[in-house]
Amino acid sequence: MGTKQDDILEAIFYALSSATEGTYYFISNLKKKRSRWSKEAVEFFGLPGEFIDEAGEIWGDYVHPEDRESFKKDVESCIKGEKDIHIMTYRVKTKSGKYVECTCNAKVIRDDDGNPLYLAGSIISHGAQSSIDRITGLRNLYGFFNDMKRKRQKEQSCIVLLTGISKFAEINDMYGYTFGNLVLKELAKFLTDKFSSYTTVYRMEGTKFAVVTEAMTLEEMQKAYLELQQEVSRHLRVNDCRVNILLSGGLFSFDDFTVKAHTVYSCLKYAYYESRDLKQGELVIFDNQVSLEDRKSMRIISAIREDIVDGCKDFYMCYQPVMDAQKERLIGLESLVRWQNDKYGKVEPGVFIPILETDTNFYQLGNWILRQSMLEVKPLLQVYPDLQLNINLSYAQLEKSEFLTKLFEIMEEVEFPAENLCLELTERCRLLDMKLVKQITTVLKGEGIKIALDDFGTGFSSMEIINAVPDIDIIKVDRTFVKDIDKSEIYQAIVEGITNTANKLHRKVCIEGVETEQMKTVLQKYSPASFQGYLYSKPIPIKELKEWITDEKKS
Ligand code: C2E
Ligand code: CA
Ligand code: CA
Repeated sequence: MGTKQDDILEAIFYALSSATEGTYYFISNLKKKRSRWSKEAVEFFGLPGEFIDEAGEIWGDYVHPEDRESFKKDVESCIKGEKDIHIMTYRVKTKSGKYVECTCNAKVIRDDDGNPLYLAGSIISHGAQSSIDRITGLRNLYGFFNDMKRKRQKEQSCIVLLTGISKFAEINDMYGYTFGNLVLKELAKFLTDKFSSYTTVYRMEGTKFAVVTEAMTLEEMQKAYLELQQEVSRHLRVNDCRVNILLSGGLFSFDDFTVKAHTVYSCLKYAYYESRDLKQGELVIFDNQVSLEDRKSMRIISAIREDIVDGCKDFYMCYQPVMDAQKERLIGLESLVRWQNDKYGKVEPGVFIPILETDTNFYQLGNWILRQSMLEVKPLLQVYPDLQLNINLSYAQLEKSEFLTKLFEIMEEVEFPAENLCLELTERCRLLDMKLVKQITTVLKGEGIKIALDDFGTGFSSMEIINAVPDIDIIKVDRTFVKDIDKSEIYQAIVEGITNTANKLHRKVCIEGVETEQMKTVLQKYSPASFQGYLYSKPIPIKELKEWITDEKKS
């Protein structure tokens, strides 16, 4: 290519090109409009040669016509110097004329004056990725997605069971990793024997397996699952040793082809975790779980998921005031997410969060919520320097190892003070390993961030978590205990008990769902720290909240 820089790049290029199968490399000199492609790339895609002039145009012709425009737009903005990173997944035609899905990951290298000089990167062909699991020999998660996409295209309905071992960590701890793998192999055998014709068994993430069948009805699958559960618990043996295994299972009937494969998987996982965590392994059918009309709800979940991938355009935040319980002054805000679009209208978070919480994309939404809430509330801190912003965290966020780094990055970017932030651990967070929750809360506390335990008293192990996680500052009493407080002595006793205990332990109590003056008067007797509820305000967008604050001041 000419200069010394070019020689260095050439050397690096050479070193990389021979490294990985299914990954192809390229460097484009943006000024000379000349590019260099790895031999493997030339071979796999059937390119004209290792050196190509006007490669942008030529490569564009290889990109699937439906993906071409967005591809060109993205590359254009790199060439113009508007952005430095080009990451995109699109379909590319291979030498054989077939399209494969590829992810291109490239970076702009600028010259000393800051002008874009090279675009260099890799193209990973998903088509070349192995779709076979090494331990069990079954098709893997990747194969599952490919097959489901195909079924969707061909409009082939099927029934999908997601099943797995409930307490696999215990097996690994007790017998070791190698033994654990043997258990998975045995289970794979059980599954393939049980379901033979027109049925495929997949090894999914962790200990989970999927069974996709066109040959069975929902009822037949329910029956088969019951049998399977019994057979496995009675007969699964490894090295002549009977292993005590409990299966959990989620079931999904795939016959709405507007729904994408990834959404199918999220719904399945949701049903699976319900079965594992709340139903002791009893089979959970997804359709019976959602509150909206089945078909519509699936499309909505699918649309919401797409929107997350697309940058959360149809999401917005609402804020509900948190009031000092005695003085009835504004002391904080809880941010609550909303979703609304033209086609489906408004969807309550109670509908989509539980389902999408297990989706890999939820993490992105969680970060969007953190950033957006801090951005919108920050200006209010000038008037209310002590205002506390409560943000709900989900399971999927805490589970990610980079969660803390990302959180601190957002706080720094927005310049949001740690003292004004409180993170709420919602109910499902309690399903996480308590050691992990404890580690995270210790770091948060060290930074000066407060921690609230949401929905106290509902679900499971509320008391246990107070004991296991010493860094909890605030306990939020769930609305269920408050709804009929003026009529029910039992609930009065419960709320009094919770506030007394919390006060003894130097934890603050926030009572949610305060709707009327009567409720307030009853509740004030227990000396909680704060109230939240429709009596003061419903959750409202930031603009309305500012008006609410002005009105409050006047009154
Ligand atoms: P939550 O965190 O317990 O939020 C309180 C819910 O109670 C909110 O429902 C709120 O609108 C409602 N509420 C507040 N005061 C009253 C009242 O006086 N009467 C009645 N009837 N209801 C009241 P929403 O906004 O529909 O949220 C439902 C749940 O969805 C939340 O429960 C939370 O678990 C989850 N959620 C909402 N936003 C987020 C978020 O940004 N991130 C995460 N991870 N979860 C969220
Ligand atoms: Ca909350
Ligand atoms: Ca709550």
